Amino acid sequence: MTDWQGKHVTVAGLGVSGIPAAKVLHARGAVVTVVNDGDDARAREQAAELEALGITVRLGDGATLPAGTELIVTTPGWKPDKPLFTAAREAGLEIWGDVELAWRLRGPDAAPWLAVTGTNGKTTTVQMLASILRAAGLKTAAVGNIGVSLLDVVLGDEQYDVLAVELSSYQLHWAPSLRAHSAAVLNLAPDHLDWHGSMEAYAADKGRIYEGNRVACVYNAADKATEDLVREADVEEGCRAVGFTLSAPGPSQLGVVDGILVDRAFVENRQQNAQELAEVSDVNPPAPHNIANALAAAALARAFGVPAAAVRDGLRNFTPDAHRIAHVADVAGVAYIDDSKATNTHAAQASLAAYESIVWIAGGLAKGATFDELVAKSAKRLRGVVLIGKDRALIREALVRHAPEVPVVDLDRTDTGAMLAAVQEAQRLAAAGDTVLLAPACASMDMFANYNKRGDAFAAAVRGLGA
Ligand code: ADP
Repeated sequence: MTDWQGKHVTVAGLGVSGIPAAKVLHARGAVVTVVNDGDDARAREQAAELEALGITVRLGDGATLPAGTELIVTTPGWKPDKPLFTAAREAGLEIWGDVELAWRLRGPDAAPWLAVTGTNGKTTTVQMLASILRAAGLKTAAVGNIGVSLLDVVLGDEQYDVLAVELSSYQLHWAPSLRAHSAAVLNLAPDHLDWHGSMEAYAADKGRIYEGNRVACVYNAADKATEDLVREADVEEGCRAVGFTLSAPGPSQLGVVDGILVDRAFVENRQQNAQELAEVSDVNPPAPHNIANALAAAALARAFGVPAAAVRDGLRNFTPDAHRIAHVADVAGVAYIDDSKATNTHAAQASLAAYESIVWIAGGLAKGATFDELVAKSAKRLRGVVLIGKDRALIREALVRHAPEVPVVDLDRTDTGAMLAAVQEAQRLAAAGDTVLLAPACASMDMFANYNKRGDAFAAAVRGLGA
């Protein structure tokens, strides 16, 4: 669809993706109707802004398909089984998400996309990738699910050489024609299953990122499900499957040999069978899961032709976002680490695997998760556990089953002051050489506005200990 003049487009949902989509389509001459479930003060304010431009907005009715609709552009978070979509499918209409819209509206000279998805590590990997691309002298931006609108970047005045794009499973679900230069699926663990309906559907949506790749489909050699997705994808001729591993790499893989990140997939000198990229200590922080993220970022950059030295420089220049395994302070020989962003069990397992003797602060909203595997795999590293938040009993029960000897303090609190008490209890349980790790394995919204606020409360409490 290139001629938008007079096309009747329904935009599903106001908010960060709906509002720019509505504006862009309206500016191109489409007849836009925005439908939104909510009808609160914020929605009314947003609606007024759009209505002033001549866009129709229906508040409090996100279910009915407006008559005459030719295309739906949806907020990615809207569930596929909504009545609006059922009606649209029955009418034979296409449904695009924000990513699909950006992809379709991009210009003929648009920058290619290096795309990243996975259950955990997406933001970190995309930022590492952007840092590597910049170190290679390329003009790039880290965009997408990371909080930077693809639509803004794709339609903006800046010209980019290449984009580092983070995509969520929701965005991929609604992006049927997206074709990345190369893409990576970092890992696959159950998450958002209430939205997708099943693990198979979740994996299939993630797997869409590989469709039509031109140069490389990057998979995690330690996570067979990601490799299976590559096998199932329909890619351009000559596109290669490239694995990353924390062990010595096989052919067509990147991996680690004697503390060095090594590339055996994109070797510059034909005389060699491996190219050294960087040292493990160049990765910040050098926790195993983060080295995996660095290898995935390196694989995508190398697929784009970036030289080895730029991979090293880009990794050295990279600093992780807040609340992702952030070292807050050492107090009396105990390290205090804020991994508030570990909002699911897969993420928490990765951070627990990075330390030896841990006092673990956990709990919050479980989002339907079970904790047996996490606790069983981490039990031998736990010196103690402090539980907070609404669903903490689920973790406590798993601890009883798999780590009965580990001391547990169940704070039975969900007020914000509970974090201070949790840190004080953790200090009591910890000995010199231990790590106190906030890796809640749960969402934060029972106690805090978001994971940032939870991490801030932890850091403030830790600073109080040192005083
Ligand atoms: P995402 O954007 O996918 O949410 P982030 O890069 O923000 O990922 O990292 C979120 C959390 O996931 C981190 O705080 C860490 O606990 C965990 N994590 C990061 N990378 C990985 C990985 N490769 N495997 C497992 N867990 C990871």
